[in-house]
Amino acid sequence: MSIFFISDLHLEEKKPHLTEAFKNFISSKLSPKDELFILGDFFEQWIGDDYEDNFIKSIKDVLKEISNSGTKIFLMHGNRDFLIGQKFCKEVGANLIEDPYTLEIDNKKILLMHGDSLCTDDEDYQNFRKLVRNKEWQDEFLSKDLIERKTVAKNLREISTLENQNKNELILDVNTTEVEKIIKNNSVDILIHGHTHRPKIHDENGIPRIVLGDWGDNLWYIKSSNGEIELLQEKI
Ligand code: MN
Repeated sequence: MSIFFISDLHLEEKKPHLTEAFKNFISSKLSPKDELFILGDFFEQWIGDDYEDNFIKSIKDVLKEISNSGTKIFLMHGNRDFLIGQKFCKEVGANLIEDPYTLEIDNKKILLMHGDSLCTDDEDYQNFRKLVRNKEWQDEFLSKDLIERKTVAKNLREISTLENQNKNELILDVNTTEVEKIIKNNSVDILIHGHTHRPKIHDENGIPRIVLGDWGDNLWYIKSSNGEIELLQEKI
C-alpha cells in the first residue's frame, strides 16, 4: 500500500491538459489499496458546492471513480479552494481534513499542511486569510447568487495577483521561525506542505520539510511506500 500526496494542481476549465495529467496520474500510479492526500489548491477557484459546470462535473467523475475503486481520498483546503464543503466531499467520496493534519506512517509523525499559514511575513495575506476563513464571511459570500460570487472571486484574484507582483520573493515564502515553531509544538518527524510552488526537501535541524510543487510543465507528488518517502516529478 502506498500513500500519495499532491497539491497545487490549480485545475481549471481553461487548462484541460492539467485535468488530463491528473487522470493519467491516477490511472498510472494508484491502485485500490492506496491513499491519496490532496493538500490544497486542487482547484484554481471554488465558489461553492452548489455551482457545477461540465468541467467540475468531469473532475467529480474522476474522484468518484477513484473512491469507488477503494482508494481513500483526503482533501485539505488551499487558499483558492477553501470553500469546498462537505456536500462536495460526500458526493465524490472524499474526506475533508483540517489544516494542519497529523498522519502516522511507520511510527513517524507526519504533519500535513497546505502551507499558506506558514507565510507569516506576508501580513496582508494573513489578514485576508483571517477574513475569508471566518464563517460569517463565508456564509455571506455563499448567500450571494452565482454571478455575484464569480465577480467577487475574480476581483479577489486580481487584487492578489497585483499585490504579489510588488512583494519581495522572500515574503511569499514560508517564515522559518514559524516552521520551527510548528515542528517543535507538534513534535513532527516530517513536515509536508505545498503552496509556495518551490518544490524541495529542506532540512530543518534534522527534520525533513518536503515541499510539493505546483502542476504546470511538470507534475509533482510525494510517494510513501515501504518505509520510504520520495518527492517525485514527471513531465506533463
Ligand atoms: Mn496555495
